[in-house]
Amino acid sequence: MGVKSIAVLTSGGDAPGMNAAVRAVVRTALSFGMTVYGVKRGYNGLLNKDLIKMTMRSVSDIMQHGGTFLYTARSPEFNSIEGVKKAAQNCREQGIDGVVVIGGDGSFRGARDLVNEGIMCIGIPGTIDNDIACTDYTIGYDTALNTAMEMIDRIRDTTESHDRCSVVEVMGRHCGDIALNTGISVGAIATLVPEVEYDFQRDLVDRMHLAQKTGKKHFIVVVAEGCGHTQEITDRIQKETGIESRTTILGHVQRGGSPTLKDRVVASRMGYHAVKLLRDGVDNRVVALKGESVVDFDITEALNMERFFDKELYKISAALSI
Ligand code: ADP
Repeated sequence: MGVKSIAVLTSGGDAPGMNAAVRAVVRTALSFGMTVYGVKRGYNGLLNKDLIKMTMRSVSDIMQHGGTFLYTARSPEFNSIEGVKKAAQNCREQGIDGVVVIGGDGSFRGARDLVNEGIMCIGIPGTIDNDIACTDYTIGYDTALNTAMEMIDRIRDTTESHDRCSVVEVMGRHCGDIALNTGISVGAIATLVPEVEYDFQRDLVDRMHLAQKTGKKHFIVVVAEGCGHTQEITDRIQKETGIESRTTILGHVQRGGSPTLKDRVVASRMGYHAVKLLRDGVDNRVVALKGESVVDFDITEALNMERFFDKELYKISAALSI
């Protein structure tokens, strides 16, 4: 057997479905005869030895809840050579030879540092943004999409009553996946994403005027947060089209809520896969979903991959939006 005792932690931004991943890690490890520790508040818990020994029942009744019952944190102390060495030493003292890290790219960099200090690590992609290059899917993404869609459906009701334009900012600093898919699902007149440069006149003003000519009176514009200052975009739309425009920033509502079936199932499969790798003595990998398959990549390779943006889907979104 590769490892006898492992730990699991959630790190960086939380995402719905992280609990399902922790549950899968714990139950799989216990079924393989391993000892499992839950680590509180990301890498901070390794530094402070804030560990809970897990049983099958420790992870009962958590899968349907958003957030992460292990809590999460950003740990500046861990982000230093001394911090990583201390965390590795604490793992050794506790008899922990493997760690499963659920988080984003930053958390995987930390996992790679721990591997270099002799602790076996596996990363699982957990972030609502879907911004991890090596995987088609990150845990939390589907829940966030559905939340954003439902919220914008509500905004549309009032936007329609008043013949207004609503400009809705969704999450995605560098990644327009939430904006693009939400935009399609709510029939946005325009969707702005950081991956594609836009022309204000052509992509907003002209498009809205054209739609007005065919009888359209209310508009939804979806903007990824990485596209600039949303209130300024709204003000400019109002000024240049004469249509009364309002901003809504969805913000952290997108991070919460009960995870969808997809997030629970993908998280469960990834958690199982991660522990199987450790059992087989494999480390320094990021678990990923490629098509319908759960696979894994070397952490450094994964971090160096270029993220795929679906330009075809962007074209479709533009074609359907008028
Ligand atoms: P995410 O994992 O969601 O990308 P962060 O980038 O905030 O979130 O990273 C989470 C934590 O991972 C950080 O607080 C830090 O403890 C650790 N971390 C991030 N980058 C590195 C790095 N280059 N080396 C070591 N640890 C890192």
